[in-house]
Amino acid sequence: MVDVVLSGLTKRFGDVEAVRGVDLTVRSGEFCVLVGPSGCGKSTLLRMIAGLEEIDGGELAIDGRRMNEVRPADRGVSMVFQSYALYPHMTVYRNMAFGLKLARTAAETIDERVRSAARTLQIEDLLDRRPRELSGGQRQRVAIGRAIVRQPKVFLFDEPLSNLDASLRVQMRLEIARLHRRLGSTAIYVTHDQTEAMTLADKIVVLNQGTVEQAGAPLDLYRRPDNLFVATFLGSPRINLLPARVEPGQGAMPTFHVGDAVFSLPASFAPPADGEVMLGVRPEHIRVTHPGTDADLTMRVDLVEELGEAQLLHGTVAEGQSLIVRYAERADVAAGDEVGIGFSDEDMLLFDKDGRRIPHEL
Ligand code: ATP
Repeated sequence: MVDVVLSGLTKRFGDVEAVRGVDLTVRSGEFCVLVGPSGCGKSTLLRMIAGLEEIDGGELAIDGRRMNEVRPADRGVSMVFQSYALYPHMTVYRNMAFGLKLARTAAETIDERVRSAARTLQIEDLLDRRPRELSGGQRQRVAIGRAIVRQPKVFLFDEPLSNLDASLRVQMRLEIARLHRRLGSTAIYVTHDQTEAMTLADKIVVLNQGTVEQAGAPLDLYRRPDNLFVATFLGSPRINLLPARVEPGQGAMPTFHVGDAVFSLPASFAPPADGEVMLGVRPEHIRVTHPGTDADLTMRVDLVEELGEAQLLHGTVAEGQSLIVRYAERADVAAGDEVGIGFSDEDMLLFDKDGRRIPHEL
């Protein structure tokens, strides 16, 4: 079992600093998912761990050993690529065996490992086929099999499911989750897909312009994002944001203003000195009522999107602020209607003017 420790890892391409002083510890057996907008440095970071990009600054340690100068083949890592990168002229068996052959592994051991990996991935009957005779999902299984036979200390995945159609992605995602549980190995996985990140990860790392915005358990990041960047990056549809003002109020309790609506600031929030805040509330945390009844705000609905299991109500509140509500109740709501909306204190996120979340003690 192996820890991967990144200390101040840095990578430059000419003037572009693609990775800027990243500190990160991936614990033994942990499934760590790197996410972030296009160009934030996810793939570069993964390739630095794999040894496919040189490290310009900082240190990479795997299993307690400095790896900066160690050749890729000697790092104990195996990488699975989005493009599968299979050899087209070789059979599945030979594709899976190739790396071991290069490492001069004994033929018996190779055979044992290839057949065992093929069993695990349920591709035993495909061993004599060539990649062009396989579906996308089968090819990706072969690519994963090729990584498994090397018995790496760490699996690295670079968007392995992006080339698959939606239903196959879901199936392969489950297979990767099961495989990880069975093998118990350390994994670092890059994806654009939120659902993959939330479902597969023990730890999600949100990257932005080469730095780590926040790292932690998926639900911690979702419920308690450190800042607006993380709050808006995770969640689909995106978290709703409404500018608001906190004022001293009549009694001990400060009041909280969104447009014309005024309500008490939950005592669990420490109001910021300047009173300017951004209220964040996720679409699924908003309840819908009749206007005026137990509602904090009135929303004019301008579009209803049917999802099957719920509806997305798009509308505006206060001074034309747009809002999305995920509505699972199935009452009759149509474009043009006015509805009341409200949310619980525990579902409110408040951010200061620098985008940092204001702590919330519940
Ligand atoms: P995406 O999600 O689009 O794949 P990413 O988060 O994986 O993006 P990287 O591919 O790591 O991002 O790229 C990070 C930055 O480094 C980008 O600005 C990119 O243009 C730059 N970059 C990456 N590889 C090279 C290279 N070989 N030469 C020059 N610049 C590069």
